[in-house]
Amino acid sequence: MDQHLATIRDEVFRRNPGEAEFHQAVTEVFESLEAVSQKHPEYAEAAILQRMCEPERQIIFRVPWTDDAGRVQINRGFRVEFNSALGPYKGGLRFHPSVYLGTVKFLGFEQIFKNSLTGMPIGGGKGGSDFDPRGKSDAEVMRFCQSFMTELYRHIGEYTDVPAGDIGVGGREIGFLFGQYKRITNRYESGVLTGKGLSWGGSLVRPEATGYGAVLFAQEMLATRNTSFEGQRVVVSGSGNVAIHAIEKAQQFGAHVVAASDSGGYIVDENGIDVPLLRQIKEVERERISEYAKRRGSKKARYVADGNVWDEKCTVALPCATQNELGASSAKKMISGGLIAVAEGANMPCTAQAVSLFQDAGVLFGPGKAANAGGVATSALEMQQNASRDSWSFAHTERRLSEIMIGIHDRCAATAEEYGVPGNYVAGANIAGFVKVADAMLAQGLI
Ligand code: GLU
Repeated sequence: MDQHLATIRDEVFRRNPGEAEFHQAVTEVFESLEAVSQKHPEYAEAAILQRMCEPERQIIFRVPWTDDAGRVQINRGFRVEFNSALGPYKGGLRFHPSVYLGTVKFLGFEQIFKNSLTGMPIGGGKGGSDFDPRGKSDAEVMRFCQSFMTELYRHIGEYTDVPAGDIGVGGREIGFLFGQYKRITNRYESGVLTGKGLSWGGSLVRPEATGYGAVLFAQEMLATRNTSFEGQRVVVSGSGNVAIHAIEKAQQFGAHVVAASDSGGYIVDENGIDVPLLRQIKEVERERISEYAKRRGSKKARYVADGNVWDEKCTVALPCATQNELGASSAKKMISGGLIAVAEGANMPCTAQAVSLFQDAGVLFGPGKAANAGGVATSALEMQQNASRDSWSFAHTERRLSEIMIGIHDRCAATAEEYGVPGNYVAGANIAGFVKVADAMLAQGLI
């Protein structure tokens, strides 16, 4: 990174102390931008980068609720409205005990470029809470969501800011949040949230979209090397919504998916992961993944407690768990084990060091802001359906998702080529995402 960029980055670090993940996300983008700032001096004159790194608005609020024992609990809620150059702020809500302002800022920052890459008219934002849904009853989750929305509602709207799910926020939580929004505002404003249930404004394919999209993106990368998913040995980390659908689509493409994980450990199933069983355990029963090996009834399925899923050999890796889950030592092992491609279903699951190792070894690497953009892109399709009071068929929506993912892949590849780094999807995604937002900001003046 040149001196001009390094100075701006250092100033961002200074203004946002102690937010390691945000610093990491900013550094990664800046490292891609040297050629852009040489080509476009007008961005520096308008301080585009400095403005892009400062969220337009950051909201932090108290979320009081009572647990089933009648005790008062307090959590902290966040919504970071990062950039609205391209459309209303758009991005998920994450409920996880580790969430703090730095998490939400890293995710919101990534979301700006991801959303830009989709080609849809959506700005970037993110929110969440340090609430831990694990082990809570449905009634507790409902009271928490109602309290969360009692503050959040005044900041959002179909033309303002449109939250959705992320880790810890699925269909159940979106339902409770939407119900409370409707009750407080007395508006059936379908487009205020995405990831809704089908009968009340949701879109077909939205649950599948992030995982399916990551596999579609990987398939496009593999095609540049004249290969495909057929016969690949695939390891997926995580076992939530993104992971389950990534496994499903990879299997449809003929891959042999042998492993998945949760925060307690991982499973290996040499017969190939049984998706209906995994879904039953994780999504219906909300149980631990260790249950899978017990119920599979095959010697070929085993559970490894406290293990690292990346110890399991694969040719294609789909990290779909959480940030910085895959580091340098795993990357080295995977490369020597014959890895050919990685597509990030989660946001920033690979550390910066792991990414460089993959790239230096010639492994195809699809960064999350491109590879997992199918989720938010399908959220934008849900907004489109809400705006026109329509609902599309599964086949039509999946075709749109597929076109969008191919478009993102090709945009990243062409931009990398144009800027002299062919095959570098990280640079391609960052530059293509950035330029579109930067041009819109220039056009809209100093705001
Ligand atoms: N949380 C998802 C993401 O990281 C989806 C956001 C959305 O649909 O708005 O992109």
